[in-house]
Amino acid sequence: IFSEILKEKTMSKKPIVAIIGRPNVGKSTFVNRLAGARHSIVDDAPGVTRDRKYFDVQWLDKVFTVIDTGGIVPSDEEDIPVNIFAQAKIACEEADKIIFMTDGKDGVTPIDEDIANILRRSDKPIYLAVNKIDSIDRNAYAAEFYSLSLGEPYPISALHGSGGVGDLLDAVTADFETPAEEEDVENRPIRIAIVGKPNAGKSSIVNALLGKDRCIVSDVSGTTRDTIDSVVRYEKEDFILVDTAGIRKKAKVDWGVEKFAVTRAIKAIRDCDVAILVIDATDGMTDQDKKIASIVIEAGKGMIVAINKWDLVENKQSSTINKFEKEIEQDAPFLHYVPKIFISAVTKQRLVSIYKEAKKVWEQCTKRVSTSVLNKVIADAYAMVPPDTVKNKRLKIYYTTQVKVAPPSFALFVNKEDLLKDSYKRYIENRMREAFGFFGTPIRLSVREKGDKEK
Ligand code: GDP
Ligand code: GDP
Repeated sequence: IFSEILKEKTMSKKPIVAIIGRPNVGKSTFVNRLAGARHSIVDDAPGVTRDRKYFDVQWLDKVFTVIDTGGIVPSDEEDIPVNIFAQAKIACEEADKIIFMTDGKDGVTPIDEDIANILRRSDKPIYLAVNKIDSIDRNAYAAEFYSLSLGEPYPISALHGSGGVGDLLDAVTADFETPAEEEDVENRPIRIAIVGKPNAGKSSIVNALLGKDRCIVSDVSGTTRDTIDSVVRYEKEDFILVDTAGIRKKAKVDWGVEKFAVTRAIKAIRDCDVAILVIDATDGMTDQDKKIASIVIEAGKGMIVAINKWDLVENKQSSTINKFEKEIEQDAPFLHYVPKIFISAVTKQRLVSIYKEAKKVWEQCTKRVSTSVLNKVIADAYAMVPPDTVKNKRLKIYYTTQVKVAPPSFALFVNKEDLLKDSYKRYIENRMREAFGFFGTPIRLSVREKGDKEK
């Protein structure tokens, strides 16, 4: 019981937004959009009752809970108003803010007027959304809704998204606090996963790192019994090696076990901060290595490429490392930002650079850049190479802001989403890397359209 109370307590800290309105105005469509690709549901809150649903929604860097009261629609037409008024009452009691949704195609209906009468008596902030305004001329359609005396109507299209929904959410969340980072990322041990294809040398590396000459602080049991993370101390700092049991337990036979190993590796990647991708120096960069690299990038994790078995490379000269790096660059240009280290699990040559580089990469993963410098970098990049026009229209970037770390994630506010081509995104990403580094960490760019009002 105690833990449940705790959970409720942490849940209730988030601001609550209720969405109310007549049936069929588009409440569910709107809620689904909130929960959709660009805004993830963090979890389903406990205490879901039959007629209300609670969702946690993330909008840029704000998190809030939505009460969706639209679940029940009485079969009897006459009951509809009663039901809606009950919803409005719940919303006024429980929510911090209320989105009152209306249908721009229907215009203002008598029920809307009744709901407005209830809401005007509430001291909660009300946001009047006029939905189904799918066309450009949004403001014209929404104008008649001023008659509800609930302030400026927000024309939106829950179905198509676009600028209006963003403007509404910006307004609703404007005074919400940005949640503190989920955990103190700077001050906890860095979690390292050693990944790579079979026989690259993962177990040898882990065993060398955990060897008797090094101090194993403790084993940390994970959720399943055979997932064991090891804490290792290097130069007075703790590092966690993720799923060491999975790596150390050598499979006697390769068939059948391979699939399990892959699932396990993917889990280890998800659990880590920085993945060490071990490649075999005698094989070079293989397709399998590239596949694992792309999993790490997709998971948004930091990465170091460790070229292992360096002791087996013959006739090494001062230029050999350079030559090898060039080859990797050619084989996998998408890894240009990833540090490469040359190690040997057998001779233990440069093994400790795993810790040193992991520390540097994690610093990059958790780096925050100043908004003013960021916008200057983007503006300079734009001025230097403006985007191509598409059907006489050119992408405009109004401003950019960092919304998250690990991986560093940025929102670009633009005039039209489709005008930002992948090639231009890559160009911007490269410019940002030149300016800020971000060695070893993927960076994410997302785009947001600004509404017509801004133009
Ligand atoms: P609810 O009863 O308020 O939850 O309404 P729904 O979300 O179920 O939507 C009712 C109908 O309106 C559905 O057929 C939706 O596809 C449609 N609808 C919702 N939003 C929009 C919109 O922005 N534009 C248009 N044209 N139709 C919409
Ligand atoms: P895993 O499947 O990735 O865990 O690879 P293992 O650690 O089992 O290593 C596969 C083989 O490569 C074993 O025979 C190791 O002894 C050998 N090996 C691993 N690391 C090195 C290294 O740095 N140098 C040399 N010469 N052999 C190595």
